[in-house]
Amino acid sequence: VQKLRLILGDQLNASHSWYRVKSPNTLYVIAELHQEASYTRHHVQKVSAFFAAMAAFAHALKQAGHRVLHLTLDETSQYQDLPALLRDLIECYQTREFEYQLSDEYRLRQQLSVFSKSIEVSVQAYESEHFYLSDAELPDYFTAGKKHRLEHFYRKLRVRFNLLMEQDKPQGGQWNYDADNRQKLKVSDFNDVPTPLLFTNDVRPILQRLKRHNIETIGVAQDYLLWPITRCQANQLLAHFCRYCLIRFGRFQDAMTSKLDPKLGALGEDKQWTLYHSRLSFAINAKLISPKRVVDTAIAAYEAANGEITLAQIEGFVRQILGWREFVRGVYWANMPEYATLNNLSATRDLPSWFWNGDTKMNCLHHAIKQSLDYSYAHHIQRLMVTGNFCLISGIDPDQVDDWYLGIYIDAIEWVEMPNTRGMSQFADGGIVGSKAYAASGNYINKMSDHCGDCRYQVKQSHTEDACPLNALYWRFMEQHIDDFSANPRTKMVYANWLKKPIEDRELILARAENLLSHIDDI
Ligand code: FAD
Repeated sequence: VQKLRLILGDQLNASHSWYRVKSPNTLYVIAELHQEASYTRHHVQKVSAFFAAMAAFAHALKQAGHRVLHLTLDETSQYQDLPALLRDLIECYQTREFEYQLSDEYRLRQQLSVFSKSIEVSVQAYESEHFYLSDAELPDYFTAGKKHRLEHFYRKLRVRFNLLMEQDKPQGGQWNYDADNRQKLKVSDFNDVPTPLLFTNDVRPILQRLKRHNIETIGVAQDYLLWPITRCQANQLLAHFCRYCLIRFGRFQDAMTSKLDPKLGALGEDKQWTLYHSRLSFAINAKLISPKRVVDTAIAAYEAANGEITLAQIEGFVRQILGWREFVRGVYWANMPEYATLNNLSATRDLPSWFWNGDTKMNCLHHAIKQSLDYSYAHHIQRLMVTGNFCLISGIDPDQVDDWYLGIYIDAIEWVEMPNTRGMSQFADGGIVGSKAYAASGNYINKMSDHCGDCRYQVKQSHTEDACPLNALYWRFMEQHIDDFSANPRTKMVYANWLKKPIEDRELILARAENLLSHIDDI
């Protein structure tokens, strides 16, 4: 073999220019590795999804006439890490060239860069040819430490890629339709919630391998994985989204529910956690499908719907992929490796034990965590305003918060997980990603969900024994960071309201917060 080409588990991009030419002298290597299955404690569905998608990709490449070596944990367990395996393969196949695609994750990019310098054969690294912005042009948009703003970046990309534009103006005259979106889901809306498209990929052999090789995981295992693992399944999920979910995507993007209405019987558990979300993040992040294809297909569906799907829905969707997804990647690469150490609010508390089992009396947190353990999935607002908000206002160490998110979600790869978690949700980057800390009291949860009605705690109370813990924790957090936030125009009003409260009330609220924090594992 003349050339050895490495394909990482999140580089399953069948449209990559590598595959335009077939050569018996090029060997593609796809390998399950202990180091990848255990760099954090992953959700079992996440490891199964990556391993199953890798196997399917290897199979598809072989079918297309390429020479492929797919190695399972059984074959790679003897190697200490990826470089050890590669070194052995290069020697064994007597290859003269080693090629790889640039990893999206700092850890692996470093490892492969060091490895490349240590070998005798010639080395070439390629772009992954997946994102709107190439690696090479990221520095044109992002600078280390700079407080970039999504809105500015997003508008530039809308213009550059000519998406939802009328000449040089945004379609409809507005860039942002957030005000039309973000409604609560009412019982009368339940009937419309679509039945999700769930797959049944048999991953039993993978689960057995994980056991055999003592890979420690979290969460509920599924023998038949519901996540898409091939390009074809990703396309089916996209088509399902465009057909059934896009129509109300923006409107209910932030909604949360735990109501299984007995009369309607309609909102079964499956519909409850999926709502109108695309659940495409794993497929996109593993590069089974490209962001361009997702956005173009959704825009085509919007245009074909002749007004039935409103601009607010499609704009909300495009903003997430063209905007947020590309934006957090730029922030990550401009700021790594320092970004991983930022702790602007000096948060040091341990993550409560119930993050690992959902065993808390707070209904919203119980629900979001249990769902994450069951499905390796929570939607954006559950991540940001339920679990993320709790960690923020309780002052949990961002290293532990990052680690939890990196492990538990099906789509969690560090480049996208970390700016969202450490940055947007924990404000540990001091505002590089977002202009304010997303801190909220129980009031927000009550506005966007039906969790509070069934909760053991009272959302309208702040300092009593039964009061929603989020209320006291919120006020304590705001009080504690008064110097950090009071100058921000977005939080000025909050401080005015706090100071309007009688001093005795403020003291009772702060005392309640301290009390909650002192037995945080039991709330
Ligand atoms: P939809 O709601 O259907 O949105 C469509 C697509 O938009 C997603 O598939 C995703 O590709 C993209 N998108 C939406 N929001 C973001 C965002 N903020 N950043 C990047 N892409 C976005 N997303 C990940 O892919 N991996 C992560 O590890 C991750 N960690 C997160 C941690 C926290 C604390 C928060 C607040 C958000 C995180 N997100 C992460 C972003 C977002 O929550 C998920 O992308 C989304 O919930 C995935 O579900 P979906 O595919 O149904 O998304």
